[in-house]
Amino acid sequence: MAIALFCMIVSSGMGGVSLGMIIPLVDNILADRTISIPGSQNVPEFIVDLVNKVNSVPKPVLLNWLVLIVALIFLIKELFLFFQTYFMSKLGQSVLRDVRLAIYKKLLALSNDFYSTMQTGALVSRVTFDVGIIVNSITEGLTDLLLQPIQLVMYLAILIGIKVYFSISWVLILITMLVFPLIVYPVIKIGKKLRKISTSTQESMSDINSLLFETIYGIGVVKSFTAERYQIDKFQTHNYKYFKMLMKSVKRLAIISPLGEFVGVICMAIVLWFGGKEVVEGRLSAGAFIAFLAALLSLIKPFKRLSRLYGINQQALAAITRVFKIMDRELTVKDRSDAIAIVGFKNSIEFKDVDFSYMQGPLVLKKIKVSLPKGKILAIVGLSGAGKSTLVSLLPRFYDPTVGSVLIDGRDIRDFKVSSLRSQIGIVSQENILFNDSIRNNIAFGKPKAGLDDIKKTAKAANAHDFIMKMPNGYDTFIGDRGIRLSGGEKQRIAIARALFKDPPILILDEATSQLDSESERLVHEAIDRLMVHRTVFVIAHRLSTVEHADKIIVLESGGIVESGTHAELLEKSGVYKRLYEIQFKLKAAF
Ligand code: ADP
Repeated sequence: MAIALFCMIVSSGMGGVSLGMIIPLVDNILADRTISIPGSQNVPEFIVDLVNKVNSVPKPVLLNWLVLIVALIFLIKELFLFFQTYFMSKLGQSVLRDVRLAIYKKLLALSNDFYSTMQTGALVSRVTFDVGIIVNSITEGLTDLLLQPIQLVMYLAILIGIKVYFSISWVLILITMLVFPLIVYPVIKIGKKLRKISTSTQESMSDINSLLFETIYGIGVVKSFTAERYQIDKFQTHNYKYFKMLMKSVKRLAIISPLGEFVGVICMAIVLWFGGKEVVEGRLSAGAFIAFLAALLSLIKPFKRLSRLYGINQQALAAITRVFKIMDRELTVKDRSDAIAIVGFKNSIEFKDVDFSYMQGPLVLKKIKVSLPKGKILAIVGLSGAGKSTLVSLLPRFYDPTVGSVLIDGRDIRDFKVSSLRSQIGIVSQENILFNDSIRNNIAFGKPKAGLDDIKKTAKAANAHDFIMKMPNGYDTFIGDRGIRLSGGEKQRIAIARALFKDPPILILDEATSQLDSESERLVHEAIDRLMVHRTVFVIAHRLSTVEHADKIIVLESGGIVESGTHAELLEKSGVYKRLYEIQFKLKAAF
């Protein structure tokens, strides 16, 4: 910015000097007179000397000099203009780069509750669209903010100089001074409106992005319901709305310049009329008057740019406000200042009188009290919506309990650093999210330097090695967005391999209910059984063999534990579990 500022000063200064060349050009060469300074008693020595020197040079020589000097001045001016543009853009783009990264980091730090309230499209808009507007206001806006005042001061100084040394009448100066408020006022009014429009434009952009994501994500559903027309209509509505909003701001931005110019030209005409009379009547040198006009014209531009800047900044401010809404968002799950790292655990995990509700909603978990010794398996069963997933999501602190606490070896998990806690936990869920990367990077997710041998070993244990080897590039095969090029069973086995590779002491498992063919299901279950060995497991159970082998089973109903015990104990009770067993587990096993 400092370099850019320096370049601005030099290039503007050169602009001012080139303007001064007008006086000898008009007076000495074109009008065939000499430069005269009417108010010569106030004029400093060096100006009188300079004027006398210029007056004494023969005209052809003076013309040669003028042309040469002007060419040189413009060379310097344009050179510095280049550096100014380059460094200013570099500044803007660097800010853009850093802000984008900062938002991305913040998005990764934000907790799950944030994501259940935000649209994906809106978030993407923040990182792309909004940041773009901000950078525009830096490269364009900041340049103007620095450059235009420099120019303004310089041309004002020239004007005053001409007024002092060439006795320009006060009427001219007054008219000149009247021009500027006339230009600025409407622009400020328009700027305010622009800020409002910018917010609506952004909302439209978010809608477009959201719809785009949904459509791409659910393209299969759209096609199977032949809902293309329906989606296109929706898209067109948003798209058209965005276009209309954008045109509203284009209209307002576009009106600023012509409006300013029109007012400017009217004033210029008046100045021309008054000044022209002074020249005709011999009270003012033609060169000085033209230089005055040129300085005046040059003065209008910075004013116009500064007022347009107001409009740009109003848009940017709206975008910045939205970006800061994310940046300033408090993290609901975060490290305490005295948090310590957890390194493995020894005895047990315990849920102690835990109540939980999503965002001040109704209680989804009530008085949960359960403990599990190290190396054992806890099966959680219950109807859909009973709170099983919510319960296990408290362990890696995706959410914190509303009341009560989760303890590892008797210590509240909020005492531990979140990252160290999560490094102890592996999760295999029903919806196995894979990334558009090679199979090997998906298995060793987050560990780019992992050795292929280790990856292969875990893939074998997860019953994935054979099908991986049949793929065109083996472990280096890219699997498409969310693993779209893999079958359901294959995706699950990669996800299991990924958990095995992480090798965590604690495992959260959500057994798939989706129907796989029996061979594929056997391979997946075999892999899961291997994954569970020697780990402390919380499993949302859907299989008979899981509940049979679990060390403890809890039955959830509307967020509360209604029964607990081993499979045999619970069957004996003839309660809720038995009923569930008869509908869910036995029936499935029979198939
Ligand atoms: P289960 O895993 O047993 O099917 P869940 O734990 O997913 O049950 O859901 C328990 C309850 O919490 C349900 O009533 C569900 O509507 C609600 N719920 C789940 N996730 C959220 C969320 N992100 N925000 C608000 N409510 C939620």
